[in-house]
Amino acid sequence: MPRKISILGATGSIGQNTIDLIRRAPDAYDVVALTGASNIAQLATDAKALNAEVAVTAREDLLDDLRDALSGSGIEAAAGAEAITEAASRPADWTMSAIIGAAGLAPGLAALRQGGTLALANKESLVSAGALIMGEAERHGATILPVDSEHSAVFQALVGEDMAAVERVIITASGGAFRDWPLEDLHNATLDQASNHPNWDMGQRITIDSASMFNKAMEVIETREFFGVSPETIEVLVHPQSMIHALVGFCDGGLMAHVGPPDMRHAIGYALHHPQRAPLPVERLDLTKIGRFDFTAPDDARWPALRLAREVMAAGGLMGAVFNAAKEVALDGFIAGQLRFTQMAEIVEEVLDARASDASLGRGSDDMTLDLVGKADHLARKAAKAAILKRAG
Ligand code: NAD
Ligand code: MG
Repeated sequence: MPRKISILGATGSIGQNTIDLIRRAPDAYDVVALTGASNIAQLATDAKALNAEVAVTAREDLLDDLRDALSGSGIEAAAGAEAITEAASRPADWTMSAIIGAAGLAPGLAALRQGGTLALANKESLVSAGALIMGEAERHGATILPVDSEHSAVFQALVGEDMAAVERVIITASGGAFRDWPLEDLHNATLDQASNHPNWDMGQRITIDSASMFNKAMEVIETREFFGVSPETIEVLVHPQSMIHALVGFCDGGLMAHVGPPDMRHAIGYALHHPQRAPLPVERLDLTKIGRFDFTAPDDARWPALRLAREVMAAGGLMGAVFNAAKEVALDGFIAGQLRFTQMAEIVEEVLDARASDASLGRGSDDMTLDLVGKADHLARKAAKAAILKRAG
């Protein structure tokens, strides 16, 4: 029997890599839903090639374009955030959650509630609502498999291990585009410069987040939420080669490292075939050519985002949602040319500081609901936009 699968965020970098893998074994899968946003041509082409049941765009204004592109195919077309969540709730055995940003949270939850497997690339949902996601997965008997190179690496290093024996979880960072820049030049970094990753080919937003280390800051929180380890257990190391993705340290002093090429099809394929391993079309590393692996401690002055992640974990509750939303708005501001590169962290810190005194945000994780997360997200976006305007004016 083919497995029923859905891909949320099918037109993005992770979505396209997922499609690359499933197109190699078309008989193995029945595609239920594919979702996208602005790239209607890609969405329609893939929906037809994979004979999907439904294709959904986030953009209601593009529904007619999607209908036109799919006409005669018999594939259902839909649009809007609610339609994405509806499509995500259609029965599927395996769902890829690869929408970018907080928009991925509600569809991811809808997919989880079916009790199947959620391959989770959308780290924003874990940062904003980790307790909610993990709680819902448990309630509905769903399996979540990480699709972030570091978290897939940690997951693989933990196979057969007892969590009580874990002393440290080390995730690595390439250092992004500005690892070796003089600190005083950072505030002049341009959008083009920040959009070039030395090792990984990814969507623009996560590439800029890699340069600012907001991506790694999110991943530290993601590690805490996914594996349930305490914040002190989690370390970040700068590793320019991006080949050791994570290391897990055990109570006997042993470290299990995961080494692999910087190609997301490894983590996606691992989640697709779990608990088996299957051959994947990724590079086989020649360690004699690579020759060396370097590691350094990250510099807090260069990457304040890492310190902010620690503050968010210490506060707990809904501060993750505040952090993620403020970061998304600050990133929009940088992309739109309203903020300098270094001002993104300033905006996020300002919003966190302002919200820190709001007791309702620090509440325990037991009563976290989608509604409360949405409210915290909304408040933070408003505050971040105001902070950006204040700077402009
Ligand atoms: P991307 O920008 O390339 O693609 C994003 C996808 O989300 C597209 O399909 C787009 O149409 C869709 N989308 C955008 N806005 C939307 C909205 N408001 N509502 C619904 N859909 C919307 O992003 P990406 O690089 O593929 O990243 C996707 C997710 O995977 C992110 O959470 C990212 O952090 C995570 N991730 C990516 C990589 C990578 O290598 N690209 C690695 C690890 C984790
Ligand atoms: Mg990663």
